[in-house]
Amino acid sequence: MSSARSEDLSQLMEEVVSCRACPRLVSWREEIARVKRAAFADQEYWGRPVPSLGDPGALVLVVGLAPAAHGGNRTGRIFTGDRSGDWLFASLHRTGYANQPVSLHRGDGLKLTGVYVTAAVRCAPPGNGPAIAEREACSPYLIRELELLAEVRVIVALGAFAWDAAIRTLAHVSGMRLRPKPRFGHLAEASIARYELLGCYHPSQQNTFTGRLTEPMLDSVFSRARALAGA
Ligand code: SF4
Repeated sequence: MSSARSEDLSQLMEEVVSCRACPRLVSWREEIARVKRAAFADQEYWGRPVPSLGDPGALVLVVGLAPAAHGGNRTGRIFTGDRSGDWLFASLHRTGYANQPVSLHRGDGLKLTGVYVTAAVRCAPPGNGPAIAEREACSPYLIRELELLAEVRVIVALGAFAWDAAIRTLAHVSGMRLRPKPRFGHLAEASIARYELLGCYHPSQQNTFTGRLTEPMLDSVFSRARALAGA
């Protein structure tokens, strides 16, 4: 991993966190940061686009949907401070990608090895539902990120929205027309150019509370990702 590439990723993240391209999301993320949830009333919310996190030399890229209003939008770190993140990082720890099972706040000592975590949309959307125009506005960041992450071979898409965003990104970087579009499913796989796309149910409470996604199911995705990456 060259320091030049790491610097490019840092520069990209600086650009991301100052982005104000989507008026609805800018308004929402800042309103949430101002009003806060009662349990976090004493905390200063991040209230900006949330940067990615991980190993610049990663073989595996994890793509989520968007930051949670009181998770990443509060802590300033992707999947940090919400229940989805609790599930994700615990699984990354069990499968050898994270040095600790929890992600609480920036500066908590979390270190990821071999994996890089990002999102299709970088600002918290109302109801966890970005508009198509917002997804499109944010897509160049994911494209540029993937181009800078030169070692990535496997992309884990958390949920159908991220799966779709990953396919669009891969179509762009590979110049391929992906028809028919590979269908999303848990442990669904698609080979696209030099990448392996791997589907995973999103670790949202909607899935984890209902048992649609269990810890072994989540772990099996990251074990499969490691096998596909050959590492
Ligand atoms: S969602 Fe993406 S494009 Fe829209 S304001 Fe946030 S960072 Fe910018």
